[in-house]
Amino acid sequence: EIKGTLGRYVAYYTEEFDKANIRNEQLKRAVQQGIENGEFIPFIQPKVNIDTRELVGGEALARWRSPEGKMISPGVFIPMCEQTGMIVDIDMMIYEKVLQFLRAHLDAGIACVPISVNFSRMHLLNEDFLDQIVRKREEYNVPASLIEIELTESAIFDNIDNIYVFTEKMHSHGFSISMDDFGSGYSSLNMLKDVPIDVLKIDKGFLEESKDNSRRNIIFSTIVEMATQLNIRIVVEGVEFIENVELMRNCGCSIAQGFYFARPMPSEDFSDVMKKGSC
Ligand code: C2E
Ligand code: MG
Ligand code: MG
Ligand code: MG
Repeated sequence: EIKGTLGRYVAYYTEEFDKANIRNEQLKRAVQQGIENGEFIPFIQPKVNIDTRELVGGEALARWRSPEGKMISPGVFIPMCEQTGMIVDIDMMIYEKVLQFLRAHLDAGIACVPISVNFSRMHLLNEDFLDQIVRKREEYNVPASLIEIELTESAIFDNIDNIYVFTEKMHSHGFSISMDDFGSGYSSLNMLKDVPIDVLKIDKGFLEESKDNSRRNIIFSTIVEMATQLNIRIVVEGVEFIENVELMRNCGCSIAQGFYFARPMPSEDFSDVMKKGSC
C-alpha cells in the first residue's frame, strides 16, 4: 500500500519535474536566441535629488523585448541566466547599449548624467572582464566618469580576495564602483573596511515597514553617517512613498531611486528627462 502510494507520488513528481525541465529548456533556448538577436535592452531609472528633483544619474535595468513585442522583466530570466552563465553576455549587451546611448547624446551636445550598469558576480571570475569593459568604453570614447559599475554585496563578498585589486584597477581607469543591495546580506560591514567603494545603494528592504520603525530609523541613519564619514555616496533604492522621502530627509541623505520619483523607462524617455535635467 505504502509502496503504491509512493510509486504514484514518484511518478507525479517526475512528471512535474519533466514539465519544469522542458519549460526551463525552452526558456534557455529562447534566451539564447534573444541574445543572438540583440533583444535585451536597457530601461533606465532616474536617480534624483529629493529636495530639488534634479536628475543626478540613472541605472540601466535589463528588459527582454521578445519578438512578439512583450517586455519581460529580469525576474523571469536573470536567475536562469546566472545559472547558465548567459548573464555575462546580457550584461555586456546592456553595457554596450548604454555606451551607445551616452555617445549619441554627447554627440548631440546634451549634458549627460552618469549611468550605472549591473554586472553579475560571474564577471569577477573572468580575468579579462576589466579589459573588456575598458576596451568597450574606449571604442565608444565615452568618459569613464559617466559609467558606474554596480556589483551586489554578495558578489563582492564571494570575491573578497580579488575585489580590492579589482576596485583599485577600476578606479585607475576612472570608473566608480557601487555596492548594490547594501544591507541585504550579512557581510557588508566587514568588507567596507577593506574595499574603497564609491557608492552604497541601500537595499529597499530597509524602507519596508518593520515591527519597530524606530529601530529601523536608527540603523538607517547610522549607515548614512558611517558612509558620510567614509566619503561614500549613498543612493536609496525603492523609494516609493512620501514616508520614505521623509525618512531620507530626517537622516540627511538626498539621492533617491524609486517609483515615487520615476520608474525605469525606455531610453528615449530617459533622454527627455536628461534634456530637462529633472523629474
Ligand atoms: P537592482 O539592481 O537592485 O535594481 C533595482 C530594482 O528595484 C529594479 O527592479 C527596479 O525596477 C526596482 N525598483 C526601483 N524603484 C522601486 C520602487 O520604488 N519600488 C519597488 N518595489 N521596486 C523598485 P528590476 O528592473 O526588476 O531588476 C531586478 C534586479 O535584476 C536588479 O535589482 C538586478 O539585481 C537585476 N538586474 C536587472 N538588470 C540587470 C542587468 O543588466 N544585469 C544584471 N546582472 N542584473 C540585472
Ligand atoms: Mg542595481
Ligand atoms: Mg539594488
Ligand atoms: Mg535588488
